Amino acid sequence: MTGYCSCSSLYVTLLHLQNPMSAPVSLEIVLGFAMFALVFVTLERFFPFRQQRVLRPGWMTDVLYYLVGCFVGHFSDAITAGTILLFGWALGFQSGGFAGQQPEWLQFIELVLIADFLAYCYHRACHKTPWLWRLHKVHHMSTRMDWLANVRLHPLDKILGDCFQFIPIFSLGFAHTPLLAYTIMLGFQGFLNHSNIKVEYGPLRWIIASPTFHHWHHCCDREAYDKNFAPHLVIFDF
Ligand SMILES: [Zn+2]
Ligand SMILES: [Zn+2]
Repeated sequence: MTGYCSCSSLYVTLLHLQNPMSAPVSLEIVLGFAMFALVFVTLERFFPFRQQRVLRPGWMTDVLYYLVGCFVGHFSDAITAGTILLFGWALGFQSGGFAGQQPEWLQFIELVLIADFLAYCYHRACHKTPWLWRLHKVHHMSTRMDWLANVRLHPLDKILGDCFQFIPIFSLGFAHTPLLAYTIMLGFQGFLNHSNIKVEYGPLRWIIASPTFHHWHHCCDREAYDKNFAPHLVIFDF
């Protein structure tokens, strides 16, 4: 549910430190939106789960949430980076090292499992804790599900979710390639799981969270309440 911009922007921030000639943040936001819109509007047009207009009610509000969320994501980055530096200074350890020594395919699997479990825990807490629910219910206010519904998040919900997930991940010191692969997956799967796309995963539906899986989380039926919290895998929701 979180991280459509922040995890990737944190990664981009790290890359900026190494390559100051890369694109400015505002251009990344516009190009990122255009890329996601092109991919998902096209897929929703040709493989719709239900017929609905692209410019459905509330789309302008969600575009604003996207823009605000991107800037809020940079605030999450600063908190994440500052916390890692502070803990490193206070406890005398440096992030990086142990996780990054493993094969990259193994790091990617570990990243998905750890990030998914952390996101599951935070999302579950949002539904069980009254003050967190007051923030998180904004995400459940979309009346139509499509790719853009992914970004409807209260700014504080986004900051808390991002930090809860990213501080441990970036503290463990995974290598660049698995982190980049994970951030791409995080951004893509977040939009896909909210999208109005009819897609069948076959037997993989018992492993990978699908749009059907996450749409059930947004469903208003009483039997759907407090189910299907994880963003990537279904295993933590068994
Ligand atoms: Zn959602
Ligand atoms: Zn929720």
